Amino acid sequence: MSSFDAPIYPTDDSRRVSSASQPVLRLAPAPAAPPEFAVRFWGVRGSVPSPSQATMRYGGNTACVELRVGGKRLIFDAGTGLRVLGEHLVQEQKPIEAHLFFTHTHWDRIQGFPFFVPAFMEGNCFHIYGAASLNNASIKQRLYEQMLRPNFPVPLQAMRSNLKFHDIAPGSTIAIEDVEIETVLLNRHSRALGYRVTWNRCTVVYATDADLHDPHDPTFLHFAQDADLLIFDTAFANHAYFDPCAAAETRNPDTWRACVDLAIEAKVKQMVMFHHDPTHEDDFLDQIETEVQAIYANAQLAREGMVLNLPVGDR
Ligand SMILES: [Zn+2]
Repeated sequence: MSSFDAPIYPTDDSRRVSSASQPVLRLAPAPAAPPEFAVRFWGVRGSVPSPSQATMRYGGNTACVELRVGGKRLIFDAGTGLRVLGEHLVQEQKPIEAHLFFTHTHWDRIQGFPFFVPAFMEGNCFHIYGAASLNNASIKQRLYEQMLRPNFPVPLQAMRSNLKFHDIAPGSTIAIEDVEIETVLLNRHSRALGYRVTWNRCTVVYATDADLHDPHDPTFLHFAQDADLLIFDTAFANHAYFDPCAAAETRNPDTWRACVDLAIEAKVKQMVMFHHDPTHEDDFLDQIETEVQAIYANAQLAREGMVLNLPVGDR
C-alpha cells in the first residue's frame, strides 16, 4: 500500500478476534494515536463546486486541505470541502480546537465557512488567520459580511465557538508551539498568501492562486525549496493548457511546465497539483496526470479524500 492509500487513522484490529469454540475477549479499542504529519484533501476544485457523475473520482468540493501535525490541526481554506470536514470533526473530537488559515477570500475559499457546524458549537475553539484584502478589509470583516442578509440567513455572531481572529502580513512567520508557518505573497491581484509549514524537519508548502510565470522566480523557488510536499495550484497558472475545449495548438504547456520545472529546481520531493477547473471531468484529469507523470514522476493530481502521511525527523 502506498502512503497515498494509507488510512489517516490506525485501523482497530481488536474487532477481528472471534472463534466459535473460544470465549471472545473483548478489549476496549486502543486510543487512536494521531498521525504525526498527515495531509488530507477535503476539496480540490477551484472557482465553484462541480458535483456530477463525471467528477466523482476527483471530487467536486472547493478548496480545503487539512494538516494534522505534531498534535495540532491546521486547516487551509474554507471552500465547500470544509463542510464535510466539519461533519467528521463533530464525530471525532470534543472539544475541537483547530487553526484555520485563509489564503484569500474568493468564493472557492470561503463558501464552506457558514456551513462549518463545529463553529456553531460552544466549547470549540478556532484560531482564524488571514491577511488584509486589497480594500484593506480584515479576514474577520470578510467572513462576517458573507454571512449577512440577504446573502445568508445566519450571522457570524450565531457561531458559539470561541473564534480568535489573527490579522497577518505577507512575509510574517507564525509559531504554534513547535510548528512553524511561514507566509509569502503569491499573487498581487488576489493578494493570495502561500503557507510553508515545518515541523520536525518536514515541510509542506501550500501555494494556491499562485501567479507563476517564471520557473526561476526567486520568491517561489525560495518558498518551495526542499519541501517534502508542494501543493501547487497548476490550474490557475495555465487555464489554456487545461482547457479541454481548446484546440491543441492553442494549448500552452509552457506555463504548466513552469510549475513542474520549479518543483524540480526547488528539489521538491513530491508535488500535488491542486485547484482543478470545475469544467474538467475525471477522464480529462486522468489524461493530464499521465502527461505530467511522463516528465515528472513525483507529481500527482489532488483527489478529494486523498491522504498523505509524511516522513518526519531524521532522514
Ligand atoms: Zn482565487
